[in-house]
Amino acid sequence: MFQNCSRSSFQGKIVEIPGSTLVTLEGIPEKNIDETYVTVTLVPAGHCVGAVMFLFQTINTTVLFTGDFRINEKDIYKYAGLHDVAEKPIKINTMYLDTTFIDLVYENFPKRSQSIDAMLKEIESCLLTGSGVALHTSAKYGYEYVFNKIYEKLGRKVYVNEDRWRFYRKISHLVPGVTNNDNETIIHLCTKRNEKNHSTCIPRNYPQFLYIHLSAMKWMNSNTFKPIQRMSPTRVDVCFATHCSRSEILGFVNYFKPDKVIGFPNPYIEERGLKRGNSLREEGKLESMLVKRFCS
Ligand SMILES: [Zn+2]
Repeated sequence: MFQNCSRSSFQGKIVEIPGSTLVTLEGIPEKNIDETYVTVTLVPAGHCVGAVMFLFQTINTTVLFTGDFRINEKDIYKYAGLHDVAEKPIKINTMYLDTTFIDLVYENFPKRSQSIDAMLKEIESCLLTGSGVALHTSAKYGYEYVFNKIYEKLGRKVYVNEDRWRFYRKISHLVPGVTNNDNETIIHLCTKRNEKNHSTCIPRNYPQFLYIHLSAMKWMNSNTFKPIQRMSPTRVDVCFATHCSRSEILGFVNYFKPDKVIGFPNPYIEERGLKRGNSLREEGKLESMLVKRFCS
């Protein structure tokens, strides 16, 4: 169970927590508060490996704390913890909601599987040339699904440095796609913003690298929904969001129709940020600048 994983150190012990636990909260007689029984249920959050939502239920109140999450509206029905015995969505009184991408500029993201399929084709071509592959990610964690898919489809693991390995080796059954042995692979998890120099992130050297940058923010106001974009012969940018897009956020809220929604880190407002028409021009400018920079 990990929340806010990009900001955690993961140096502690990994624990397994049962799906549902009954907790007794002692009463506070001087404040006229009775003893309360709360059922706490953990629901997979789809953000990074081990990420969960917390569902708190008392006899008369239900609160869902999503934490960082990404779930497509079409998949919500699969989450048993969020449905009653008749398979209907549970009644939620208060929802604490991850609104990282609530702005209008993040209306849609491609599915992670679409982005990965497109990325795998690029890596596959690169493997034929003998180049190394550098995977650069926007956040520290949340790409375990990427590593596992590369391993599953191409039979190659991703080399991670000691810092990441200290964590991943504890959950190697969940992340079989990583290794700390550089002899095992030509793909590494890159710590460099400079796509040309990898001498400190992998011990072995290659004549050339394919630099793959995974992020979501760059895709603001994209109206093409392209999962990847080739920036230069040696660089590919991949749209990979570990938080819900704006339409996924609204879909999630609409599915449960909670009485009250409290957004974090942004307020939950249905119309927030720049409008699409205005910033498409900005997107055009941004793309021209990026192409100029990386293709020159
Ligand atoms: Zn690197």
